[in-house]
Amino acid sequence: MILREWGEKQNPANKAYFVASLLWLVLLSSGCSQPAATCYQQPRADLSGALAYAADDELEFQYPLPELGLKDYPEPARFCKASRGSNRKYHAAEDYHLPAGTPVYAFADGVISFSGRMGGYGWLIIIDHPQANIYSLYGHLSPSRWKLKSGAVEKGDLIGYLGDSDENGGSAKNPLVTHLHFGIRAGQRTDYSGQGEWRWMAGWIKPCPSDVGWLKPSQVITGQEIPPGGFPEPEGSLFEKWGEELILSLFNVGGGLVALIYSLKKKKTFISIFATAMLALAGGVFSIKGTRGYYALFAMAVLGLGIVIYQYLQKRNEEQGEGEGREAQEEQGQQ
Ligand SMILES: [Zn+2]
Repeated sequence: MILREWGEKQNPANKAYFVASLLWLVLLSSGCSQPAATCYQQPRADLSGALAYAADDELEFQYPLPELGLKDYPEPARFCKASRGSNRKYHAAEDYHLPAGTPVYAFADGVISFSGRMGGYGWLIIIDHPQANIYSLYGHLSPSRWKLKSGAVEKGDLIGYLGDSDENGGSAKNPLVTHLHFGIRAGQRTDYSGQGEWRWMAGWIKPCPSDVGWLKPSQVITGQEIPPGGFPEPEGSLFEKWGEELILSLFNVGGGLVALIYSLKKKKTFISIFATAMLALAGGVFSIKGTRGYYALFAMAVLGLGIVIYQYLQKRNEEQGEGEGREAQEEQGQQ
């Protein structure tokens, strides 16, 4: 209905109105809300006595770098620190500056739910701690050194090492100061999407980190307290939490299906190959970015490949059939 009207009266005023409405919707959904007051002036983490937390087996939590209280290091990015510039973002973790090769330990008992390369983090490890309903995030680890890949861990278990400045998310051209980006969040990794401000591997985000479940790590460790039933997860509608991921997945999976059905019906080999390649590519990007739905994309890519092979064989059979038919006709003609 709207589309028909739009087609009927394509005057400039209508166009402007349409574009303005779209812009307004985009602005509305991009979250212009002001972060809560808790986002400002978070005191610097008190790291004294870090060794004591690691030494006491009775305690639930310890710092992931036990010796960090003993070292002198430059001013690290605090929890909720605001970035400079107009596109203000907030730091969802605490940074602990130590040299590359420093061992990193599990902050509590738990199960590794992710261990792998991840964009700006170099190597990233996530540990779920269901007993407290939190997960912990260790970023800028070393991809080239030993690291734990999966399984259950106990508090204080070695999980990996800090990465060099050219492999910890930095590069030879743009080195990144060697440090641990350590985050703690209410809920488990799978409670969060792989895209948008609610993404599970978030580092710097638009909303106030504590509004989307991030906790101040040093406070959790010094507090040593688990609320009854575990740390409560942040409130947020399904769309707020998963919006971007839902749209991306629906768009890609839906588009892929349409392309597959179209190429199957029309028997266009080129379109089938193109669709298959795009599906495989989207699946790869999704899996690197941690977006859900990449299994479906890979499965459809395999299906697409099957269609391409099937169509190729069918075409060859038809051509052979035609060839044989012609031969038979020619034979008949000679007789
Ligand atoms: Zn950081």
